[in-house]
Amino acid sequence: MTGKQKKRDELPAELTWDLTPLYSSDAAWEQAFQVFAGREEKVLVLKGRLGSSAENLAAAFRWSDEIEREVSKLYVYAHLRSDEDTTNTRYMGMQDRVRSRMVQVGAALAWIEPEIMAIDEATIERFRHEDVMAPYRWALTLVLRKKPHTLSESEERLLSMAAEPLGTPAKTFSLLNNADLRFPEISDEQGQPVELTHGNYIKFLENRDRSVRQHAFLTLYETYGRVKNTLASLLDGNVKKHVFHARVRRHGSALQAALFDDHIDQQVYDNLIATVHDYLPDFYRYVDLRCRMLGLDKPDMFDMYVPIVPEVHFEVEYEEACRWVTEALRPLGDEYGAVVRRVFTERWIDVLECRGKRSGAYSSGCYDSKPYILLNYQGTLDHVFTLAHEMGHSLHSYFSDEAQPHIYAQYSIVAAEVASTTNEALLHHYLMEKFTDPHRKAYLLNHLCDGFKGTVFRQTMFAEFEKMIHDKAEHGIPLTPDELSESYYQLNSRYYGPAVDAHRHIALEWARIPHFYYNFYVYKYATGFAAAQALAAGILDGSSENVDRYLSFLRAGGSRFPLDILAQAGVDLRDSQPVRAALEIFRQTVAELGAALGA
Ligand SMILES: [Zn+2]
Repeated sequence: MTGKQKKRDELPAELTWDLTPLYSSDAAWEQAFQVFAGREEKVLVLKGRLGSSAENLAAAFRWSDEIEREVSKLYVYAHLRSDEDTTNTRYMGMQDRVRSRMVQVGAALAWIEPEIMAIDEATIERFRHEDVMAPYRWALTLVLRKKPHTLSESEERLLSMAAEPLGTPAKTFSLLNNADLRFPEISDEQGQPVELTHGNYIKFLENRDRSVRQHAFLTLYETYGRVKNTLASLLDGNVKKHVFHARVRRHGSALQAALFDDHIDQQVYDNLIATVHDYLPDFYRYVDLRCRMLGLDKPDMFDMYVPIVPEVHFEVEYEEACRWVTEALRPLGDEYGAVVRRVFTERWIDVLECRGKRSGAYSSGCYDSKPYILLNYQGTLDHVFTLAHEMGHSLHSYFSDEAQPHIYAQYSIVAAEVASTTNEALLHHYLMEKFTDPHRKAYLLNHLCDGFKGTVFRQTMFAEFEKMIHDKAEHGIPLTPDELSESYYQLNSRYYGPAVDAHRHIALEWARIPHFYYNFYVYKYATGFAAAQALAAGILDGSSENVDRYLSFLRAGGSRFPLDILAQAGVDLRDSQPVRAALEIFRQTVAELGAALGA
């Protein structure tokens, strides 16, 4: 699929998404946008009166929910249209207009939560039990649980005024890392000079020529090394921001503050790290296999990305990919399968690349739209996995939207990546059965091992590092470049094991990872991946009970806390068992890969 990029109007219509069920035309959108003007003002009649009756309290929930539902429909249309061609200024303009409406709406509704929190406890409990509040009891619980961590009105005002300056370290890191920091030219394998970039760094690390990999690695970290004091200060500033917020909001620690929104027990975080530690010897076995396949005595950190499995050429036509994914998801039952068919036949997917189209892939939509999928399908095996992944998100939205009222339909990120990754695990299983030739099997086994390596081991190492540096900051230990580098090097050595002769330069990896600015986010990748492996194994058991439990997980949306929803599906992350079960799959896959490669 090479050659000149097509223009949007040259694409076959059946491979583009159909957004007309959302709005029949741009003019219809424009009209809806006009009608929406000033909608949030209606709620103002309730201001100062939420404590006077359960009817008023319920009306505040109902009206703000309706407003949010309407504005997200306007937003989704503008953003999907804009992504069809990011150079189209009309759609860019529509998107900007909705965004600023969203800010206005948010500001106009901001008084509601503090006013609810100010109602005395006896009154609120009386209201809660009145029938009119029945649809909003859970929403009320979510507001009230924030009460112990909410400050007085004037303190909250100060905090919101401080938000922008406190965001400076993260913003500056991003500017330095993405714009100002330039890497020198290095030689590619033909000896041609190429400027090293974030984008091509990983390509260099996949190079068969070890000296090319090493050179890219050393050059990258030498560049970071020259600004390490600045980078340490930025990371330190960002960690201190988290610690500051946790303290003023009366959380036990920065970690507990970050886990509060999703109501995740810290035990989940600690179990993940402890369980992954138990399986590090299996990871060492994988590193050792990698080392033997590459013919190295002592691998270094720049040997961790070069493929160890002979290249297998997969050229999968889109129709074929749709068949594979449909077949792979068959264990999820007829009901799920019927929706998968609709995704294909009712044009919920925008399949092909075209000029100006947003890159990558995603699933996006709202309560009043189809759960659309954007792809840039190129026919590789990875793209087939991407289709299965996004299908998982879209069907999660479909089932959640169908079963829940709008106010509880939005699910958390913790649950989201479980639904997508479960589909990938089912696709893996299907393809392992389908292919008989050993090269393809080895390729798939390696693909799964890479998934564990990148998503479970590496993200858990990041999660552990995040916890470590926040702990240090909370104990007054300054995060100097040496402190950060020494901790990182030790941790990295622990994860990759004694067989790796890690170049000192890896100690600076902390300096280039944007995720360390995300406030305890990455553990979700690891728990999501592990939960998905455990769920997929249960689904493949063939028991209809497991499938039913899985579908009720999808249907639960955001109607309860994510851990409780997952526990009902059979994966209780408060216990180490699901992560352990997933890592048992890793252990077995490494053994199978070793056998397949004759190593
Ligand atoms: Zn995803």
